[in-house]
Amino acid sequence: MAKYDVVVIGAGPGGYVAAIRAAQLGFKTLCLEKGINKFDKPFYGGTCLNVGCIPSKALLDSSYKFHEASHAFAIHGIQTGTIKIDVPAMIKRKDDIVKQLTGGIGQLFKANGVDVIDGAGKVLSGKRVEVTKHDGSSEIVEADHIVIAAGSVPMQIPPTPIDQDVIVDSTGALEFTEVPKRLGVIGAGVIGLELGSVWARLGSQVVVLEALEEFLPLVDRQIAKEAQKTLTKQGLDIRLGARVTGSDVKKGQVTVTFTDSSGEKKEVFDKLIVAVGRRPQSQNLLAPDSGVSLDERGFIFVNEYCETEMPGIYAVGDIVRGPMLAHKGMEEGVMVIERIAGKKTAMNYDLIPSVIYTHPEVAWVGKNEEQLKAEGVAFNVGVFPFAASGRALAANDTAGMVKLIAHAETDRLLGAHIIGPSAAELVQQMAIAMEFGSSAEDIGLMVFSHPTLSEAVHEAALAVHGHAIHIANRKPRK
Ligand code: FAD
Ligand code: AMP
Repeated sequence: MAKYDVVVIGAGPGGYVAAIRAAQLGFKTLCLEKGINKFDKPFYGGTCLNVGCIPSKALLDSSYKFHEASHAFAIHGIQTGTIKIDVPAMIKRKDDIVKQLTGGIGQLFKANGVDVIDGAGKVLSGKRVEVTKHDGSSEIVEADHIVIAAGSVPMQIPPTPIDQDVIVDSTGALEFTEVPKRLGVIGAGVIGLELGSVWARLGSQVVVLEALEEFLPLVDRQIAKEAQKTLTKQGLDIRLGARVTGSDVKKGQVTVTFTDSSGEKKEVFDKLIVAVGRRPQSQNLLAPDSGVSLDERGFIFVNEYCETEMPGIYAVGDIVRGPMLAHKGMEEGVMVIERIAGKKTAMNYDLIPSVIYTHPEVAWVGKNEEQLKAEGVAFNVGVFPFAASGRALAANDTAGMVKLIAHAETDRLLGAHIIGPSAAELVQQMAIAMEFGSSAEDIGLMVFSHPTLSEAVHEAALAVHGHAIHIANRKPRK
């Protein structure tokens, strides 16, 4: 029986990062990956590289360029003829990026000396892992440490069974061969809004059906309100309080039934994207005597260090509690391996940034106003609109704002909430500042390049104390 220091199950962001870090630290490491992608290659990179973060961003970038060329060039004095979209070419570009990056993970495994078996892992008792390869053969390997990073898959709901033709999940929504005339999206979460935006920019009439009454409930209310306003202006028909109860596919179209406050309604779509969340991929993963337990929703039960109840077995990424984000899983993978190596690495779960890659982007880190009020924490807020940023104006990209929240007494930054151009990159600056315990005053005292979008962060920090220069301050100077 082959024996490894570390066996990692799953080669998504949680797993491949853990495997590479383990090999870097000198551990004899094996990574198992059961998936095969649409190019008949191993699913290295998991959801993120094959059917998640990267392909969705490729389509968001292509569709945004199309939108700009169609609607935003004229203001710069650029005249164009009729702009057309070649959807298969757009999808091919996305596929080429996926091929490059997933192949790259295979090369990184080689370069770092990570052994790989393309097969499904199952955790047995005694820290043994059964590996079932694609030809049906199986072997058992032994490990001192096992890292489970089996990830998640799209959730389905009974009223709208996925056929990957008319009714698709997030994976099918990356493969349309033409722009649907009418597109329904169930779920106004991050994935629903991003994929809805892709096809709306290319000309689909998009209707988003969301069961909840509140738009983006996890986002700061002021930012969520601005996002709803902006996305609606872009043509997304967002129906809140609309719960989908049924569907009927006929002649390549789907009639969707939903209920809202005024009763039952129907809409007909050419395609329907079901984006109602994701569930952990924990079936057939654990033998009954593995010593690892699941919670009632199928997540592997772990502590703050991603340790399961079984010493020597860890779980990271989408298969454990916390936000289903690639960067969260990657850092958990690093933490686990470094702790196995005897380091004291810990993760700051309070400072995991989140991003919605619509345009404008929505990004945040730390606490929002509503959370702080509920916790009874006194705070000051500084807001700076991109409409007052010279750089945003030069780029004709002025929607949105930077909002910073600082502790009323200590002035320590508690939250950064941004809707606007490059919000993801700007929020990362604040995540770094907050990790170092920065105050709003610290940011206000720093020198920012001019003209940059980052200056909006500087001005928002100044606005916390009524010192902003390029807007009229609402609060008195201190
Ligand atoms: P996964 O990426 O799901 O990888 C798990 C891997 O384990 C898979 O390859 C699977 O085949 C393999 N596996 C499962 N069971 C076994 C087994 N028994 N044996 C061997 N292998 C196994 N996150 C962001 O941070 N930013 C984004 O912009 C973003 N955009 C997204 C867009 C879309 C459309 C989707 C669907 C997701 C997006 N996400 C984004 C979420 C992100 O993809 C996930 O959070 C991330 O991939 C989770 O990483 P993971 O390693 O935990 O799991
Ligand atoms: P997220 O979990 O962020 O990906 O978002 C998924 C969204 O889908 C949530 O906001 C849910 O409220 C929404 N949702 C789930 N089921 C339904 C349904 N039957 N009809 C409409 N929206 C739904």
